[in-house]
Amino acid sequence: MQYDHILIRYGELALKGKNAKQFILKLHDNIHQKVKEFDGVKVMRTQGRMFVLLNGNPPEPIIEKLQNVFGIHSLSLAIRVENDVEEIKEAALYALKREPNAKTFKMSVRRTKKDFPKHSGEMNHILGSHLLTNTEDITVDVHDPDLEIKVEIRKEATYITSGTIKCRGGLPVGTSGKSLLLLSGGIDSPVAGLLAMKRGVHLEAIHFHSPPFTSERAKQKVLDLAKQLTTYGKSIKVHIVPFTKLQQEIFREMPNDYAMTIMRRVMFRVSEELCKREGILSLTTGENLGQVASQTMDSMHTINEVTNYPIIRPLIAMDKDEVIRIAQDIGTYETSILPYEDCCTIFVPKSPKTKPKRDKVNFYESKYDFTPSIEEAIEGIETIKVTEKTLFNEDFTDLF
Ligand code: ATP
Ligand code: MG
Repeated sequence: MQYDHILIRYGELALKGKNAKQFILKLHDNIHQKVKEFDGVKVMRTQGRMFVLLNGNPPEPIIEKLQNVFGIHSLSLAIRVENDVEEIKEAALYALKREPNAKTFKMSVRRTKKDFPKHSGEMNHILGSHLLTNTEDITVDVHDPDLEIKVEIRKEATYITSGTIKCRGGLPVGTSGKSLLLLSGGIDSPVAGLLAMKRGVHLEAIHFHSPPFTSERAKQKVLDLAKQLTTYGKSIKVHIVPFTKLQQEIFREMPNDYAMTIMRRVMFRVSEELCKREGILSLTTGENLGQVASQTMDSMHTINEVTNYPIIRPLIAMDKDEVIRIAQDIGTYETSILPYEDCCTIFVPKSPKTKPKRDKVNFYESKYDFTPSIEEAIEGIETIKVTEKTLFNEDFTDLF
């Protein structure tokens, strides 16, 4: 006997009707996409649960994949047996013996198959006695057991599990529509993207690239970050915007202390245009209140004027160390801290305005029309579809 299934728990409770169905179908599909590479593995849906049939595969690599699927709250290894008391007894004993360090246990039987001949109290007793007579030095502790052995007697079969592996929760990617992530090479924007994904958002990404001031490896770094994000969802289309000409125009034509603000406004204008082209309804950024000059309240007010698209800013209230912790957890931190030249770090005004005003910006922008260059930049976008399996042609890592 051995664990032959993984039981998947999801937080369906808060959802009702059509939403619940969409949630479950999407979760099923997302799980299937992540585990289909394992031979003979199947994903099955039953009332309020999903099961992955291991089909002889070792569970660890599959669990590792599932832990990154948003919408899953927890997992347990499970044994499936027929609804037969003798088989259930044997499986419960296996679950206990598999944990040699457990000195106390508790049985928790749940019976959703109401016509099963024994009710759950009786089953707790039968199974508890069976384990006690077939082991030594092990006792029952109903309050604080080393191991809780859960038995679910369901219509189609009985599942025995012990131990719970906590997962990320959230909503299945793809249940909340699409957002365009403004992805720089920094620490913040990949984390912002991940948190949007956690709420069910499917991402596309836009990156403003200013060659020759920003190098090929800065672009590669962004593609690497996008690839890391695909671990938690689907493939991500990365749109690389040729930004050199616009940036040069901004810094040539606009007052130096307002250039940063205007550059951000132009970034939003380009992003919104791309959203229209791609049918995307919102933007996501790594902005955080009060971190740098461009992220003061005044600054956000002025920059935000150019778009009425919703802007998701998942990091708005986070401390930097919280953001870093998430970046480390999701595996983007090491890439983010690689040295690079960002288009924003190259063209840094000497003293950017920390309180830029809308009327001033509008006055400056009325003197020069960026629209033709914005259109040209959009025409020049290079789109690269990044998947979990993407192997990039060139390996730039040794250049760092
Ligand atoms: P990050 O760590 O994400 O780079 P940051 O703390 O450096 O953020 P800023 O440089 O002010 O902050 O950028 C704010 C946000 O603007 C970023 O989080 C990102 O969403 C967006 N952004 C900045 N530069 C670029 C770029 N070159 N391409 C795309 N988006 C960008
Ligand atoms: Mg940055």
